Amino acid sequence: MTELTDIKGWLVDLDGTLYLGDTILPGAIEFIGKLEEQKRRFRFVSNTTIYSRRQIAEKLTRLGMNASEQQIFTAPSAAAELLRTFGGVKCYLVVADALREEFDGIDISERNPDYVVIGDVGRDMDYELLNKVFRLVMGGAELIALQKNRFFRGSDGLQIDVGAFVAGLEYSSNKQAKIIGKPSRQFFNLAVHDIRIEAGERWLSAEFAMVGDDIESDIKGAMDAGLLGVLVKTGKYNDSYSEHFGIVPEYSFDSIKDLSGRLG
Ligand SMILES: [Mg+2]
Repeated sequence: MTELTDIKGWLVDLDGTLYLGDTILPGAIEFIGKLEEQKRRFRFVSNTTIYSRRQIAEKLTRLGMNASEQQIFTAPSAAAELLRTFGGVKCYLVVADALREEFDGIDISERNPDYVVIGDVGRDMDYELLNKVFRLVMGGAELIALQKNRFFRGSDGLQIDVGAFVAGLEYSSNKQAKIIGKPSRQFFNLAVHDIRIEAGERWLSAEFAMVGDDIESDIKGAMDAGLLGVLVKTGKYNDSYSEHFGIVPEYSFDSIKDLSGRLG
């Protein structure tokens, strides 16, 4: 198994791994500091469907980790990148207002769109909106889901995530959505590609590691894409949920602090 000290590029999950809501987790600043000190390449990665990269960079900086937008890789930025490569397509966005800036330069329209991008719109998600998306998909639009997570842990407890709506739309339309965020292989491939371009190196997937608190999105997704899976038992981690998926990460730590201690 690859030694942690031999990892060339790190993908680092945010919520539940480096912070919990607005609280930085112990060891997080130290961990990022070590990656920088040891000149390792990394991306902060997130399935957030609420915040833009600019907002995440501001938050990380506020919490004590200097971050630039270029170091952040999210499901919305990956989706926008993919749509740009398709060229000249029309899209209807069901995403938080803050995310619209990620889709600059893309033709946004609710009239016969080629794609509907669905993310988290919180309480704005209601029957009417869901049915509107359903009709667009039945009319020929392809559904792109920023993520298909089942649930997340918010500051006031567990909350149902976008995945439930995506699954419902797939069921009713009898069409599969294209999933962009973790755990889709595409997400990890795009993030790894981003680091390779920056480094100008053709590192193998096995020389990258993903650290996160979600056994399915972070660990299974990364391992399926050929990356090393490094679990931290903070955030949404719980024993029974992990056992249910029967996934054994290459490494697991009680927290980012313990992982940091292993980086030398
Ligand atoms: Mg997480």
